[in-house]
Formats: sequence, C-alpha cells, structure tokens
Amino acid sequence: MNSIFEQPTILIVDDAKENISILAELLRTEYKIRAAISGEKALEIAFSENPPDLILLDVIMPGIDGYEVCRRLKADPLAKRIPIIFVTGKVNEEEEIFGFNMGAVDYIKKPFNSVIVKARVSMHVELKQYRDYLENMSYIDGLTGIPNRRRFDEYLESTWNLAVRASMSISLIMMDIDLFKQYNDNYGHQGGDTCLAQIAHALSKVIVRKTDLLARYGGEEFVCVLPNTDLDSAFIIAEKLRLAVESLNIPHARSSVGEFVTISVGVATMFPGKNLHNTELISAADRALFISKKSGRNMTSSCVADG
Ligand code: GH3
Ligand code: MG
Ligand code: MG
Repeated sequence: MNSIFEQPTILIVDDAKENISILAELLRTEYKIRAAISGEKALEIAFSENPPDLILLDVIMPGIDGYEVCRRLKADPLAKRIPIIFVTGKVNEEEEIFGFNMGAVDYIKKPFNSVIVKARVSMHVELKQYRDYLENMSYIDGLTGIPNRRRFDEYLESTWNLAVRASMSISLIMMDIDLFKQYNDNYGHQGGDTCLAQIAHALSKVIVRKTDLLARYGGEEFVCVLPNTDLDSAFIIAEKLRLAVESLNIPHARSSVGEFVTISVGVATMFPGKNLHNTELISAADRALFISKKSGRNMTSSCVADG
C-alpha cells in the first residue's frame, strides 16, 4: 500500500514494446512507470513488496494472457486491491463484459486516445488512493497513532495461518501499565491520555522488524506479535519494551512500584498447529502477564503455551 503522498505507480503490461512506450510517454509526468512484456513478469511485480497502484493490462499475450493475470491477482487477498484496466484492440461487447466480470475496473481501447487514457487512469488511481487512505485510518488507534485492536486481530490471524503452513513459531508480548487507575486519579484523564501516547511512542521505537506488529490492545494494554521468533528472543524484546517505558521517567506519585510509570509484561510462544487457535497464544501471554502483576509488577514473565 503506497502512501497518498507518493507518486502513484502504474504497471503497463503489453507484449508489444511500442504500446508500452506510447502509454509510458503519456503517463510518465504524473506517475512512476513500471513495465512488463509478459504476464509472468506482471505477476512477479504485482506480488512483490512494492505493488503498483494500477495495472494497464493487455489482453492477448503469449504465455499467461491478460485474463489469466487478472484471475490470479483477483484470487489474492492483497493483490486483488490493485485496480486493473484492460487495454485491448477488441471492441466486442461480450469480451468487455467478460473482463468486468473478472474484476477489471475499466477498458481502454487501442488505438489510444490520450485524453481518455489520462482521464480514466487518473480517476481509478484517485479512487484507489482514497480507499487505501480510509483503510489505513481504520487500522490506526486515534489516541496513540499506533495500530489498533482491529489491525492486531487481523494480523495475528493471517500470521497464524502463515505459521501453520510454514511450521514457524509465533511469539506474543502482552503489556499492561501498572496502577494506571491511580495515575488517572492523580493526574486526570487527560494526563492519562498523554501518558498513553508517550508510552506507545516509546514502545514503537523498540519494534524495528518489519514483520513485528505493535498495537494498542485496549485501554492501557499493548500487544506485540513477533512472527518466526522463539521465546528467548521474544523475552529479550519484552525486556527492552519494559525498560523503554521505565526510562521515560514519567512521574507516578501514587505508584507503589516506584517513582515512575512502569509496565508489566507477559510473553508466550507457540508453534501454531491446524487444531490450535490463536486465542490460546493470547491466553498464555495473559497468564504470563498475570504472573508479572502478582510478583510485584514492572517485570517480564513468560509462559509455555500448550501445542
Ligand atoms: P494494574 O497494575 O493491576 O494493571 O492496575 P491498573 O490500575 O492499571 O488497572 P485497572 O484495570 O484497575 O485500571 C485501568 C485504568 O486504565 C482504568 C482506566 O480508566 C484507565 N484507562 C483505560 N483506557 C484509558 C484511556 O484511553 N485513557 C485514560 N486516560 N485512561 C484509560
Ligand atoms: Mg488492564
Ligand atoms: Mg494496568
């Protein structure tokens, strides 16, 4: 998903290089252009880490043709979000309907009319960016600016499924601010809100790996998903998170733990299996967090998860 502030990328797919040149020439001032001269190459680019914002797709190509490229992209939960415009010499209405039924958003007919091409591309890119923006917003917690519970639920679910297929472990870190009720009582709810945002910021600086996800789990609780991470490595990160909060030195006059705001942390690791559910990992991390709370707070505990 590209940021709304970046120049959008258009992937032009055509087995005739001259067609790519004409379209690229038309669009290059407003968009980043990528090109593919086969369906195979188009799929490779669309499934890469930097997918395009729109695909202009020739229908007839040797090897994997445009319809097949479209079918494969629409079958993928992420790639299906990329709008596809078919570029075709065919003017047959049935073919056009076939393309729309496959999930294309529009048709551009050869020979190209530059005004029409530009207008259609611009409209679909704008729609795509607006959709991306709304989706990004719906995943962000308003107070702290980090991913929200919804994002966490979806991320854990998809990571879990991936881990089942790849036989890899997942670790989960649960964090809860110590005696936060007293903090609110003493510094007011707004003071509490500021503290939450400061803590989220400090935690997010610890989480650097692209595949790790930090989220606000709810209230004064945070959670971190660490795919492909064993318990020892997760414990080290959990301790870094705990220390990052402690070293903010946010005064907490009513805390029985110490002078400053602290968090308690629980860590659990599991090898997801077909008959297991990710709620078992959450429960295990919760149990570990409970141990930290019972043992005096401002500490990290781990729990061996079943399975
Ligand atoms: P413990 O150390 O056992 O976790 O004690 P605690 O006081 O942190 O736990 P408790 O669950 O009793 O209280 C949580 C507090 O967190 C109460 C609630 O008002 C506060 N809280 C939850 N969400 C927010 C929020 O968005 N803003 C503010 N300011 N406070 C919040
Ligand atoms: Mg709590
Ligand atoms: Mg708490």
